[in-house]
Amino acid sequence: ATQQLNDHFDDHQPFSLSPITLQKLPHLSEYLQDLQPAGPNPLDRNPFFYPSDGFYITSSDVVLRHTVCRLSPSGAPDYPFHHVAYIRAGPRKNIFFDPSTTRAAIVTCGGLCPGMNTVIRELVVGLWDLYGVRQIFGIKAGYRGFYSTPPVELSPKMVHNWHMRGGTVLGTSRGGFDLKKIVDAIQNHGFNQVYIIGGDGTMRGAVKIFEEVQRRKLRIGVTGIPKTVDNDVGIIDRSFGFQTAVEMAQQAIHAAHVEAESAVNGIGLVKLMGRSTGHITLHATLSSRDVDCCLIPETEFYLEGKGGLFEFLEQRLKERGHAVVVVAEGAGQDLIPRTKAQEEERDESGNRVFLDVGAWLKSELKKWWDRDHPNELFTVKYIDPTYMIRAVPANATDNLYCTLVAHSAIHGVMAGHTGFVTGPINGNHAYIPLIDVAQAKNAVSTKDHKWEWVRSVTNQPDFVKS
Ligand code: ATP
Ligand code: MG
Repeated sequence: ATQQLNDHFDDHQPFSLSPITLQKLPHLSEYLQDLQPAGPNPLDRNPFFYPSDGFYITSSDVVLRHTVCRLSPSGAPDYPFHHVAYIRAGPRKNIFFDPSTTRAAIVTCGGLCPGMNTVIRELVVGLWDLYGVRQIFGIKAGYRGFYSTPPVELSPKMVHNWHMRGGTVLGTSRGGFDLKKIVDAIQNHGFNQVYIIGGDGTMRGAVKIFEEVQRRKLRIGVTGIPKTVDNDVGIIDRSFGFQTAVEMAQQAIHAAHVEAESAVNGIGLVKLMGRSTGHITLHATLSSRDVDCCLIPETEFYLEGKGGLFEFLEQRLKERGHAVVVVAEGAGQDLIPRTKAQEEERDESGNRVFLDVGAWLKSELKKWWDRDHPNELFTVKYIDPTYMIRAVPANATDNLYCTLVAHSAIHGVMAGHTGFVTGPINGNHAYIPLIDVAQAKNAVSTKDHKWEWVRSVTNQPDFVKS
């Protein structure tokens, strides 16, 4: 391939790729020296499978993080300067857990996200059907459930229609992370595989559980499945539920547009999920085309004065009689006045409390209009579809994603890997060290083509104060 690419350049300048670093994936055998494989993968015996050469993934199969490169002549650094490769996800020829003695636990933590039930269902069905595991348990109501309530035994019969349901049948919660109690409970229940579904906080907790399991030298595989409707997890392409959320967000934007269009000087205001990142807001804006202004946490904005939001909306109302503003929940947090109590308030998991940017904007818009246009009609219709979006079942694309991610997680754990996360990188599922995912962020880049595209769709100001 290098030769062909070299031939492609007219001047026959040779080029080189930057070095590739393979991201090492933790394995039980690293701290359990005498660990031996339990045997060949039972997929061999499954009459529905005819594993061919290449069916099994080896530790030499990798997924490159960056597939978009800028080639440069030999000697000069190309972009990116360093390539990172992750181990490819999928079934391995040998497994390290005997299915007859495997006891798996599944837990869901944090807020709701479309697809949580599908992931649980596919973990149960996958363990049961692909590997013949019969001891599968659900932990109720998040991390605290490990030590506070008895586990629920799960079977394919019990979970067969869970993918049709929103929420999480197992229940979820914030807070309650007590490392010692959790790992003690995992040991006492005899679990040797732990599947943890949750957001950024949950993944940070999962790292601690994995490290404690390692410290105690336990033969327990720990894996995380990132759940974030906001798509704020780094490295992976996207997390499950995101596509469903964008689809639902579009419906809310459509409703806001109808309301705004039908009023005199109507503003439709929609607040969407996204505390640290504006992916849902951005994608919903791009796909709906009804949005006049898109506000996300990654960009600043201001209300008054030249180039501000009010001036822009005044212009839009004059031209079109209505406007639609979409704001991510994390946007403008520094603009909203906070009381001392709000300044210090934290939620159960220790997160800073977010103030309602939508309600604040609505009231500021009304104040502005009454001040500048005292006798003219004006309407703001504020829609906050958050809980409606979070609670729906996953759409077709997300359901398929959930199935792939659950099965990949099972294959990895059965193969003895631990302390990892499964997710797609450039469309190919890979295993990523938990610790990398717990630290990585996925912010919207306001310097790339996608943000320029938003600006061209909305024609909104750049909010750069002159
Ligand atoms: P969401 O996407 O809804 O924010 P999340 O996983 O970030 O999901 P949190 O409520 O922050 O939701 O955390 C979920 C669980 O993880 C809670 O039980 C919390 O106690 C635990 N947790 C959060 N942060 C940490 C941390 N740094 N170390 C250990 N556990 C944590
Ligand atoms: Mg969180």
